[in-house]
Amino acid sequence: MISFNIPPYTGRERPYIDQVLGSQHLAGDGAFTKACRKWLESYSGCESVLLTPSCTHALEMAALLAEIEPGDEVIMPSYTFVSTANAFVLRGAKIVFVDIRPDTMNVNERLIEDAITPRTKAIVPVHYAGVACEMDTIMSIAKKYNLVVIEDAAQGVMSTYKDKVLGTIGDAGAYSFHQTKNYTSGGEGGALLVSTPAWQERAEIIREKGTNRSQFFRGQVDKYTWMDIGSSYLPSELNAAYLYAQLEEAEAINTRRIASWENYYKQLQPEAESGKIELPYIPEECCHNAHMFYIKTKDVEERSALMEWLKHRNIQSAFHYVPLHTSRAGQTFGRFHGEDEYTTKESERLLRLPMYDGLREEDIKAITDAVRRFYA
Ligand SMILES: *Cc1c(COP(=O)(O)O)cnc(C)c1O
Repeated sequence: MISFNIPPYTGRERPYIDQVLGSQHLAGDGAFTKACRKWLESYSGCESVLLTPSCTHALEMAALLAEIEPGDEVIMPSYTFVSTANAFVLRGAKIVFVDIRPDTMNVNERLIEDAITPRTKAIVPVHYAGVACEMDTIMSIAKKYNLVVIEDAAQGVMSTYKDKVLGTIGDAGAYSFHQTKNYTSGGEGGALLVSTPAWQERAEIIREKGTNRSQFFRGQVDKYTWMDIGSSYLPSELNAAYLYAQLEEAEAINTRRIASWENYYKQLQPEAESGKIELPYIPEECCHNAHMFYIKTKDVEERSALMEWLKHRNIQSAFHYVPLHTSRAGQTFGRFHGEDEYTTKESERLLRLPMYDGLREEDIKAITDAVRRFYA
């Protein structure tokens, strides 16, 4: 059986976790959290990176920082994970979905401006498959209308747009370290990158249950107290220890993933050239992280048949998001602006093939051979 996903594992997670157990400091913001933070800040260039228990929590923190209030509107693609929308719905916002571009599956930046109303407060681009949205256009629209930009960069760790690290271009960005992502903190985890200086102090307070405990630990205040609303958005040191082992290997993992992605692409190019399938498109400004390798079939029926075909050959594959605007909650909390020209149609054609660190060349050969035989 070729699995669809296997969580990354470097071997150093165990000794690091043992180190935490031995230190008897298990709660958040210990040595490993600090090391992860330092690594992420130095890699991204962002001044303030806070580890969180998940990307979902990082997005919730971003919604609090953006001071989203009941009645505010937040623009995002419908082709995304529920957490992108939930974080803002929890603050009372109405979600305004706009269509995606069929080439990258990212929000169509040219449709955003038309969806803006006097109640619009934020734009939330989602960097699907670790391939950046057209951020120059999105940032200039945000500037023109004085909107906040929060990047859902859950899939975008180690990806760039015009040499800028994803998650650092907007006011804030959210990373995921869930076990299905390129790097994990032991199953669940995330980080919030806070680029807007005015949000950085408040982000620490919100993360520490609304207290200034972070400043207290740094010796900046002599006691800590309740300052603001907040919650517990710190992961355990055990999670940080797991993550640190992965961050130390991040370059090597990324290089191996890219090699797998390029191998897939090369093997399947003839099928794409003869018009049987479509392959992913990477805009020139984007350096991606091989978060996923997907193909597009003719339609949903062909996709189901191909999935079955692969399953019979012991190969797992997966489709992806059911567009949020078609869901019960999506209809309650959101509306689709404009026409759904591509969101539903393209989501029904997309099929993800196995992708993880450690996927072998012979596995890719077996998978691509199986796809080829299906179309023969
Ligand atoms: C994985 C993912 C999330 C959620 O991440 P968690 O860490 O599981 O909370 C949010 N948005 C996108 C686009 C994702 O892919």
